[in-house]
Amino acid sequence: MLLRLKKLFSPRLTSFQLIVIASLYFLVILNISFWRFIWEKIPLNSLTDVLFALSTPLTLFLGLGVIFLLTLWPIIHKAFLAFLIFAASLANYAMVQYKIFIDSSMMRNVFETNRQEALDYLNPSLFYWIALTGLIPVVLILRANVKFNPWGKELKNRALGLLIALLALTFLGTGFYKEWAVFGRNNKLMTRLINPTNYLWATYRYFSIFQTDPQPFKILDPNVSLAKVNPHRPPVFVLILGETARSKNFSLNGYAKETNPELKNADIISFSDVTASGTSTAEALPAMFSPNERSDYRQKEALNEDNLVDLLARAGYDVLWLDNDGGCKKVCDRVKAKVIAPDFDPKYCDGQSCYDGVLIDLLAQTLTTVKGPTLIVLHSIGSHGPSYHKRYPPAFKVFSPTCDSSAIQNCPTKEIVNTYDNSILYTDHIINQAINVLKDRPDLETGLLYVSDHGESLGENGLYLHGLPYSFAPEEQLKVPMILWLSHELKTSSYLNFDCLKARAHNPLSHDHLFHSLAGLLGLNTKLYAKQWDLFLPCQNATYLEAQDKTKKTVKPLVGGLNSPQEGSRKNL
Ligand SMILES: [Zn+2]
Repeated sequence: MLLRLKKLFSPRLTSFQLIVIASLYFLVILNISFWRFIWEKIPLNSLTDVLFALSTPLTLFLGLGVIFLLTLWPIIHKAFLAFLIFAASLANYAMVQYKIFIDSSMMRNVFETNRQEALDYLNPSLFYWIALTGLIPVVLILRANVKFNPWGKELKNRALGLLIALLALTFLGTGFYKEWAVFGRNNKLMTRLINPTNYLWATYRYFSIFQTDPQPFKILDPNVSLAKVNPHRPPVFVLILGETARSKNFSLNGYAKETNPELKNADIISFSDVTASGTSTAEALPAMFSPNERSDYRQKEALNEDNLVDLLARAGYDVLWLDNDGGCKKVCDRVKAKVIAPDFDPKYCDGQSCYDGVLIDLLAQTLTTVKGPTLIVLHSIGSHGPSYHKRYPPAFKVFSPTCDSSAIQNCPTKEIVNTYDNSILYTDHIINQAINVLKDRPDLETGLLYVSDHGESLGENGLYLHGLPYSFAPEEQLKVPMILWLSHELKTSSYLNFDCLKARAHNPLSHDHLFHSLAGLLGLNTKLYAKQWDLFLPCQNATYLEAQDKTKKTVKPLVGGLNSPQEGSRKNL
């Protein structure tokens, strides 16, 4: 009995058996997500469709066989296969549980995450999954006694195996050419579900796109300048970057549950139809600060050239980036920045993460030292998942029951949504707190814009979290809240008609508007400014003309003189 158990846990295999077993294990267990996709998408309207569906497992088995025939050689086979299985087990968990796809931007999220973010994903179901589908097979492989033929025979057998597999693949490929062409075109994401090629290819793509030799930094506009500033009342603008907040869960935008009890009484504008420029922080954040619109935007270049904070700093703004979300994705690399450590202040932090309240205290402190034009960016942790329950203090547990776990897919949807809504409720409080801090300083020309980086799926169509490829992403991941508050002083000096802007609050907007609208509002003169993307301009122009008509010479701007705004030159606004 003991001997049989020992044999079972130290299997004797030929190299050929190892290749077949590895192919079968990947086919059946480590590609569950791929099979679910095939099951949902493949048509079964005719006999050809059925035969095509039946051929897919054989095709994948042969493909996996080719990979293992080429890679599982003496010395390296155990370590290589153990790595592939362990990584595939993790990828499989994420794809099955959260319905995500593995591509280069997903690998970017993996490589550029921090310890706290990674810890957020740990939960018992992940542990069991990895133990069963990753660790056990890895242990068996490491203990296996694999017998290889002498080199000559091994090479001959492999060549024969490859020939048979490739011939069979050619036969299947040509036989179902039309079916593959149509099905492949309609389901381009399919390959991102196939373990292990999905994460190997995505990792290669990630390193080739983001980790190549650094190019020299590109200055897009060396001649930026600032509109004349009233030295007695400098502009101080707060930009709050939301995290994972989706527009539809804000009661300001029509959500049935009261998630904005504080802001509903504030003199703000909620822009209800704003589309994000990406579905993950790493993708959206650099794009939000880039002067390029999404159709012209290339992330690799954008990371290495002027963005809005660079230009404002060069023009004379004191820019400070306060980060409670694990980093600024290279956007703040050239300005003053502070990443808040997870143990920064016991009042808000538990050693793993901090509530966003920590940002408000820092904002109040920063305002005491303001000397000239200032931009303060508050990068909040907002509704960062999957541990939504860690994003708000107990006093904000208003909607219940909640899902107090990171394995959100095991909670009923109602609990997930309650937990998420509590995090929005806290965000409402944070934004209002920031406004109150600014209101305390009428000696400054203050304003605030809150905008989230991307949205979130909360179980709709079985989808969770975010990060779906842009063109396939649902509205929940793309529509983000955006909220504006301006002090009376800034409204006046920028000739902004707030009622006009309110009337336009439901117009479609996108992250593409951010660079140009903020450049205009903050008085940045740059050739990169494009007036068609300035959401404030239609309401500044009207007031400007109106003011000119009514008063001719009696209206004097607080910030310098007033010129009619022109493309490429936002003088004195
Ligand atoms: Zn994000």
